[in-house]
Amino acid sequence: MPALEIKNISKIYKKGTVKALDNFSVTLTPGIYGLLGPNGAGKSTLMNIITDNLNSDSGEVLYDGENIKKLGKKYRNILGYMPQQQGLYDDFTLNRFLWYMAALKGLKRREAKLKITSLLGTVNLTYAAHKKLGSFSGGMKQRALIAQALLNDPKILILDEPTAGLDPKERIRIRNFISEIAEDKIVLISTHVVSDIEFIAKEIILLKNGKLISHDTCSNLTKNIEHKVIEAETNKENLKYFQENYRMSNLYYNDDKVIVRLVTDTPPENCKIQEVKATLEDLYLYVFESEKKI
Ligand code: ADP
Repeated sequence: MPALEIKNISKIYKKGTVKALDNFSVTLTPGIYGLLGPNGAGKSTLMNIITDNLNSDSGEVLYDGENIKKLGKKYRNILGYMPQQQGLYDDFTLNRFLWYMAALKGLKRREAKLKITSLLGTVNLTYAAHKKLGSFSGGMKQRALIAQALLNDPKILILDEPTAGLDPKERIRIRNFISEIAEDKIVLISTHVVSDIEFIAKEIILLKNGKLISHDTCSNLTKNIEHKVIEAETNKENLKYFQENYRMSNLYYNDDKVIVRLVTDTPPENCKIQEVKATLEDLYLYVFESEKKI
């Protein structure tokens, strides 16, 4: 089974003041990985290094045991990368954009024609092939970007925030779509939206300040906060207290009561509480948000 080994990668910016990646190591095998972390965690830096668009200061990336720098073109031939939307090709029709990207990737004409026709169908954009990208909705643009990443039938697929700027319906559609095309590929999806990857990723990689916090299945990760997720009953008057002092992942109103969902090591006393099953979103809060006063 081919593996992508990311070994002891560090990247330092601003004359040593920002460690965008700090001795980061992880090994990826075929399947979907969710790379989760807040803005500034180092996700884009990591993706740029994996896709060989950026040099690290130390460490190395190996595919099937060989350094990707040594593999060069061979590596790029098996790599698909979907960057964040930048509006670069707004004047191109989708068809022209895909032909252009196919040429950059070195596909032969015949091969490109077959691939573009089939990919337009896969991403449900055949009807829009001759429309300009500038006129596309957010979801259509994301699907166009995914299509170009798939032109060379990549073994490794790197997706940078694939659902950024999408409405919930488009988000679900893209998520299902990624899940369908992921077979036999190493897929790395960066996001700060937990629901994008909660049910489709085989493993979640948590990144904070350039450091690997954990790397595990979703169910093992949520086990770490078992017994720490509770629903507590309060009222409107006391709501502010909970908002200011606890990690609150949800709240809802029930008649004159307010039920708050908290992720905490120290449950509140003097109110009715009930333990609930932890989700990845609870874990995200637990890892990335500190409890204030308590
Ligand atoms: P993310 O993708 O998780 O939001 P990034 O990889 O973009 O995180 O950034 C990680 C850290 O590195 C941040 O503190 C960011 O400000 C810094 N950084 C990223 N790119 C540069 C750059 N070209 N020059 C200086 N600092 C940078």
